[in-house]
Amino acid sequence: MVSAGINFAGPGRVGIDLAEELLELKRERNAVILAQAKIINPTKRVILPDLDAGCSLSESCPPEKLAEFLTQRADKNYYVIAYINCSAGVKALADVICTSGNADKIVRAAPADRNILFVPDQNLGAWVMERTGRKMDLWQGTCYVHVEFTARSINKIREQYPDAPVVAHPECTYAVRMLADEVCSTEKMVTFCRESAAREIIVVTEAGLLHRLRKEIPGKKFIPGPTDNCFCGECRFMKMNTLEKAYEALLKMEPEITLPESVRKRAEAPILRMLELSK
Ligand code: SF4
Repeated sequence: MVSAGINFAGPGRVGIDLAEELLELKRERNAVILAQAKIINPTKRVILPDLDAGCSLSESCPPEKLAEFLTQRADKNYYVIAYINCSAGVKALADVICTSGNADKIVRAAPADRNILFVPDQNLGAWVMERTGRKMDLWQGTCYVHVEFTARSINKIREQYPDAPVVAHPECTYAVRMLADEVCSTEKMVTFCRESAAREIIVVTEAGLLHRLRKEIPGKKFIPGPTDNCFCGECRFMKMNTLEKAYEALLKMEPEITLPESVRKRAEAPILRMLELSK
């Protein structure tokens, strides 16, 4: 999930103080810490806390490979739908962008006479295909965190908490999605947890969401969906974006994100199309 935003590592009082200072500094500098913002607002200065904080999902679909694939299969005349967790280079090759929240709507709005290529997440793509009935070719990308959850690890935690419903993100594999009581976007996961009558809920997604759920919905117990290897489900890339690094980056105003204008413009068009179709 998620590189559309950043879940900062570093909870606790020190983290809260630092977050407050950081927000003040952000207002003062009029800067954003959100890479997508550079595409739709080129005059904004965009900084990243850590340039090495990549994303396995984005990296599973390099723009050069996608461009080559599209050239080799030009006869397919693909309508490319790109999930927002991808690079600016991939967005520049797409016809429209989607999020996990609006993917159904975007896929249903695709021209009926075009073949669809969905990139980069094959699991999210397969989930949308099941829901819309629209056939799509799927780029074979995955988020390394979400594919760590397995049927075995979810069955195990279910035995421990038999009354707790399981809510999972669609980037999880088919086997895990089949075991979940609800599969939905990050925002809808929050709504599900808020509205569910259950007092204990098993949450199967990147562990950063657990902080938000515990803060916004006190009084319920949120159990992190375990993986087969550990009990964390934490994205090592997201954890690289610490509050300290964000504060430092805002002080120095670097590392700054820059984009060639030609790429930015091509990447902006499919984002604007998504916004138009989402109305
Ligand atoms: S959890 Fe990490 S690897 Fe997965 S999509 Fe989000 S940023 Fe990328």
